[in-house]
Amino acid sequence: MVAGVDIGGTSTLVVFVDEHGRVVAERGGVTPALVSGEAMVQLAVDLIAELSAETGLSPASVGIGAAGVVDPQTRRIVAASASFAGWAGYSVGAHLDRELGIPNSLVNDVNAFLLGELSFGAARGLDNVAGITLGTGVGGAIYLDGALWEGPEGAAGELGHSPSYVVPGHGEEPCTCGQSAHLESIASGRSIERRYRARAGQSAADLPVGDGAALAARARAGDGAAANVFAEAGLMIGQAAVTLAATLDLGHLVVGGGVSGAWDLIEPGIRTYLAEHPPVSGRTLVISRAELGSHAVALGAASSARALVAAPVAG
Ligand SMILES: [Zn+2]
Repeated sequence: MVAGVDIGGTSTLVVFVDEHGRVVAERGGVTPALVSGEAMVQLAVDLIAELSAETGLSPASVGIGAAGVVDPQTRRIVAASASFAGWAGYSVGAHLDRELGIPNSLVNDVNAFLLGELSFGAARGLDNVAGITLGTGVGGAIYLDGALWEGPEGAAGELGHSPSYVVPGHGEEPCTCGQSAHLESIASGRSIERRYRARAGQSAADLPVGDGAALAARARAGDGAAANVFAEAGLMIGQAAVTLAATLDLGHLVVGGGVSGAWDLIEPGIRTYLAEHPPVSGRTLVISRAELGSHAVALGAASSARALVAAPVAG
């Protein structure tokens, strides 16, 4: 049994996972993202201790999936957004060594998402696949020849900040990074909501802030402005997918994150773009919805933890 942890911007999830990928126990908490790096890792340590006390199980190893650019070798956070105080530079591995004393791994959260889908979800059995997460921001991960491709700086697959001009007028859309016309400025949950409010005017006033499910419900109920912002997000995801697949000769992509809950609203845009711009290689590009939902990052982190303690294959 191993532990997987998802340290997200708002919440932290710890799962205990058996060798079949079954979640045998789980516990969540509110991430102290504005307190310190130490507080964030300590919450994970505390949640693991609580689960151990509750179940009588002790994990053989633990994997942490965390936002930011991470160095898996030193198990340290290299860079992080301003929404995580004291995270950049924090030595997650040293903290876990000291408090838990078991083998541990640190993986970028989007890479962990893809590892989870590879082990237990929509990407099972694939050797070459990319993942795109549509959440508060937009992230990407690349898996080639049976291994994550993290890049020399650990920042490979940062699709969210790739420029795109598929959607008319998108050139002026602001991005969280300070630039504009990026995939994230049209396809993240925040961007979809911002673009809807800009178009719908007064009728958007009673939409709860940050409630993507409510916005999706409006689109399904016939609100044209709501349907359009999801459809345009789909077009841009399609463009990013085709570009990535063409660059790396990929046949599969998995799309996850909270916005993928509106798959029925974004998939038509993805299909439209794919139909208009099929890969020149002639191969079929399969774009699937992720299967593990909010557990993908923690399950992927658990997979990386399992690799630390897996028995060598005999022979
Ligand atoms: Zn950007």
